[in-house]
Amino acid sequence: MGPEPQQLHTFFFPLMAQGHLLPAIDMARLFASRGVKVTIITTPLNALLFSNTIDRDNQLGLDISVQLIPFPSEEVGLPQGCENASSFTNLPDWTPKFFKALNLLQKPLEELLQTHSPHCLVADMFFPWATDIAAKLGIPRLIFHGTSFFSLCVSNHLNRYAPHENIKSETQTFIVPGLPDQIKLTRSQLPEHLKTPSELSNLLQRIRESEEKSYGVLVNSFYELESAYADHYTKVLERKAWHIGPVSLRNRDIVDKAQRGNSAPTDNQPCLSWLDSKKPNSVLYVSFGSVARFTASQLLEIATGLEASGYPFIWVVRSKDESEQRWMPEGFEERIEGKGLLIRDWAPQVLILDHPAVGGFVTHCGWNSTLESVSAGVPMITWPLFAEQFYNEKLVTQMLRVGVSTGAHEWSGFVGGEKAAVKREDIEKAVEQLMGGGEEAERMIARAMELKEMARRAVREGGSSYTDLTALIEELRLHPRPAV
Ligand code: UDP
Repeated sequence: MGPEPQQLHTFFFPLMAQGHLLPAIDMARLFASRGVKVTIITTPLNALLFSNTIDRDNQLGLDISVQLIPFPSEEVGLPQGCENASSFTNLPDWTPKFFKALNLLQKPLEELLQTHSPHCLVADMFFPWATDIAAKLGIPRLIFHGTSFFSLCVSNHLNRYAPHENIKSETQTFIVPGLPDQIKLTRSQLPEHLKTPSELSNLLQRIRESEEKSYGVLVNSFYELESAYADHYTKVLERKAWHIGPVSLRNRDIVDKAQRGNSAPTDNQPCLSWLDSKKPNSVLYVSFGSVARFTASQLLEIATGLEASGYPFIWVVRSKDESEQRWMPEGFEERIEGKGLLIRDWAPQVLILDHPAVGGFVTHCGWNSTLESVSAGVPMITWPLFAEQFYNEKLVTQMLRVGVSTGAHEWSGFVGGEKAAVKREDIEKAVEQLMGGGEEAERMIARAMELKEMARRAVREGGSSYTDLTALIEELRLHPRPAV
C-alpha cells in the first residue's frame, strides 16, 4: 500500500471588493465543506467581514483559516482604513491607486505561499501575476472572474471581433458575432475601456493573457442556467472551467445569511419583522450592489418613482450619498412609513431575497445580485450601470425571461452620469409591469420559481454543480506535486 494521500490544501486570494470577495468566501467555505483544507489570504479589515462566519465553520469542524497581509492604502494615496473598493469608489481617481495597491500585494502573497506550500491557488482575475507565482511554486492557479459564462463569452467575442469599432452611432444596435444566440448591444452599453484605451484596458489584456496560462476558471453559476454558454466557453473558446454555483446557497441558516459581508453585529434584523408583516410576493427590494453611487437627481427620481408606484419596498441607500447630497424629497421618510423601509449602507441581501414577502428585485445586474435573485426565485427589474452588467441584463430579460428592463441604456461607471438616466415614470412603469399582475408577469414569476428549484438541485448531492466540484477536487488531488 502507498502512503496515505495528503489532504488537499487550497489557498484562496480574493479581490478586496464585495462583489468578488463574498462569492470567493462562499467558495472557500464550499471547498472546506467537501474535506479540503482551506486558507484564505486577505487584509485585516476585509477579514473582519467574514471572520465570525469562519469561526462558526471551525466550530463545525471545517478546516479553514485566514492569513493576513497588510493593504498598502497609504503607500498608494488611499485614505487609511480603506481596504475594500466599497470604501473608496466615491473618491476621485481611485482606480489607478487601487490597481497600484493590488500590484504591491505580489511579494507578500509569494512569501506566504512559499512558507505554506499549498497544492493549489484560487486567485481573483485582478491578480494576473498570481499565475506566474503559482507556476514558480509548481502549483495550479485557478481564476475567479466573479461573473457568468454568458458575460465571459460576450466579453471574449467583443474583444476578438470588435464589432463596435465599425459603428459610428452610440445608439445603433449591433450583433455580437459568433455567439449561440443573437445578442444585440449598442456602443453606449459597452464599458469605457473597450472604446478608449486606458490603464484598465492594459490590465484586462494582461488578465486575458494570464487566463490562457492558468490551469482553469471557477465560475459561480450552474450548468442548467446557461448551458449553451457554459459549453461555448469550454468547447469553442477552449477554456477549462468548472461551474460550482450558486455559491451563495452555501449560506443556509439565518445567521450565515445575515452576517454575509457584514462586520457589524447582526443579531437584530429589523427588516425581517418588517417583511413578516407584508403579504407574500408584495415587496420590492431595491439595491445597486456594493460600489455604485448615484447623483442627487437620480436618487430623487428613484425615491419619487418608488413612492408613486405604491408597492411596499426596501431600498438600500448609502449614508455617504445622503449626507453629501441631500437628495431626499421633503417629508419622504414620514410619508413612506410602514410602506417603504430604507436600509443604510449594508443590507442582509440574501436573507431579504429569500423572504416570501419579496416579489421583485430592482437590480444593477451585478452577477452576484442576479444569481442570488435567481436562487431565491425572485424576478428582476434591471438597471445596469457599469462593468459587464448590460450583458447580464440580456441574460435575464432575453434568455431567461425573468426580468423587465427599466430602459437604462448607458454605461455610466461607478458614480453614474450627470443626469438622471432613468426617470420616475420609467421606474413606475417597470414596477407595474412586474408587480401589477397580468399574464406576462405571471409567466415570469413561474419561470423564476423553476429556476430557483434548478439552482437548488444543482448544488445538492448529485446535482451539476456538486458533481463538477467533486470532479475538480479529484483532479487537484491527482495533480503531480512539485518536488520539495
Ligand atoms: N450585498 C449585500 N448587501 C448590500 C449590498 C450588497 O449583501 O447592501 C452583497 C450582495 O448580496 C452581493 C454582493 O454584495 O453578493 C454584490 O455583488 P454584485 O455582483 O451584485 O455587485 P457589485 O457590488 O459587485 O457591484
